[in-house]
Amino acid sequence: MSVINVKEISQRLKDQIKAEVASLIKEDRRVPHLSAIMVGDNPASKAYVGNKVKTCDEVGFLSTVHHLREDTSYFELEQLILQLNEDPSVDGFILQLPLPAHLDGQELLQLISPDKDVDGFHPMNVGRMVLGLEGFLPATPYGIMLLLEELEVDTQGKRCAILGRSDIVGTPMAILMSRKGKYQNSTVTLLHSRTKDLTSELQRAEIIVAAIGIPDFVTGDMVRNGTVVIDVGINQIEDRSKKKGYRLTGDVDFASVSSKASMITPVPGGVGLMTILGLMKNTLKAYHLRTTYE
Ligand code: NAD
Repeated sequence: MSVINVKEISQRLKDQIKAEVASLIKEDRRVPHLSAIMVGDNPASKAYVGNKVKTCDEVGFLSTVHHLREDTSYFELEQLILQLNEDPSVDGFILQLPLPAHLDGQELLQLISPDKDVDGFHPMNVGRMVLGLEGFLPATPYGIMLLLEELEVDTQGKRCAILGRSDIVGTPMAILMSRKGKYQNSTVTLLHSRTKDLTSELQRAEIIVAAIGIPDFVTGDMVRNGTVVIDVGINQIEDRSKKKGYRLTGDVDFASVSSKASMITPVPGGVGLMTILGLMKNTLKAYHLRTTYE
């Protein structure tokens, strides 16, 4: 078994972006600019946005955060999105989810210009992904695809089980793994809450991507020897021995699964790092698309 060193891989890819930004500065060109909208004070959202800002700093991107009150109206948020769509200094922006209950995230995401939608959630980008056209891939699946490429995982014709069918992880992952490509072409099974005999489906899989948000759901008896395991889950478990009062765990029971997997991502320090990288790569792409016409 090998625990995938995601830290090292993501650092290497970040260094490549950093070098590209350094050469832009050398040529006296502006640097890519990512903006984030955050509504309210959800602690997890704050941490995610904070990590994105930190990574922008590391690679040399400009970043701005629009932190709005919990009771921000739909109209105010709509105005801000339309303003960012028009702002020539912003290459891409994200609307950090989840939003407070009175705001319809799906509807608001559709107001973001597809050319600045670096989270890849706009229906136009989802459609482009389905058809294999150029666009922005959703950040987490994009990060996982980069990881499979870096690790040179043989995905050709392999049985790949995706656990969870969310719009942002499971469903796009199933599409990407089944499309044509060097680290794609898998035979995909999408497992979800209504799947019958989930265990035997997982036992057949040679690659597993787990994204359901249930701590330690996948256990050693559910996987075959030699499986590649990508654990997307980030779950907080109460733990009084920790300073914060909790610890993070994935959707995979690391202790029992790691002894059978050929490769496995850790949590924390796993897919989360690749998600931010996917976002950075999308921002760089948006920058290049915009500067071509500047
Ligand atoms: P979600 O909550 O939107 O969807 C969960 C999915 O799991 C649903 O499709 C549901 O059908 C399925 N599911 C729920 N219970 C199930 C069961 N008992 N059996 C089979 N399927 C079941 O999930 P999400 O937004 O994709 O997030 C999943 C996990 O990944 C969460 O822990 C989340 O925090 C984490 N996450 C991590 C990253 C990252 O960067 N590492 C990014 C996004 C989400």
